[in-house]
Amino acid sequence: MTMKSTTCPFCTIDESKNVLENDRAVAFYDNFPVTPGHALIVPRRHIASFFEATKEEQAALFELVSEMRERVLAERAPDGFNIGINDGTAAGQTVMHLHIHLIPRYAGDTEDPRGGVRWIMPVKAPYWKKGERKT
Ligand code: 5GP
Ligand code: ZN
Repeated sequence: MTMKSTTCPFCTIDESKNVLENDRAVAFYDNFPVTPGHALIVPRRHIASFFEATKEEQAALFELVSEMRERVLAERAPDGFNIGINDGTAAGQTVMHLHIHLIPRYAGDTEDPRGGVRWIMPVKAPYWKKGERKT
């Protein structure tokens, strides 16, 4: 079992903030939500990468992704979700304790949502405009 980190915001989170939990993972709302209802699903162990998680932890994490989706659907009736992991600093990870972002999406929350997570690379996102792009 990996020790908890005293400097990690997810290891030190107030347990009352947990919205859902199981034996290997917990879920709580993001402090700086991208959209209303933005939630994070994290393993109880302080590990940085999804690929360090055991198969059991991976399954436990995705069980909570599904449960959290049900909850957010009931509470906020979003029209879709983005589900994502920033795995590694180069990929944008800022909290080095593995977490799955569950981001509810609402029709009209952006002018043109096509491409979703592809927008991490704005130049490459609109593949449907391939003929119109220079790169
Ligand atoms: P990353 O950039 O590592 O993928 O995402 C870190 C996420 O953690 C961000 O969405 C940020 O808003 C969220 N966050 C950072 N510190 C805290 C915190 O102390 N509590 C909660 N609930 N979320 C946090
Ligand atoms: Zn941690």
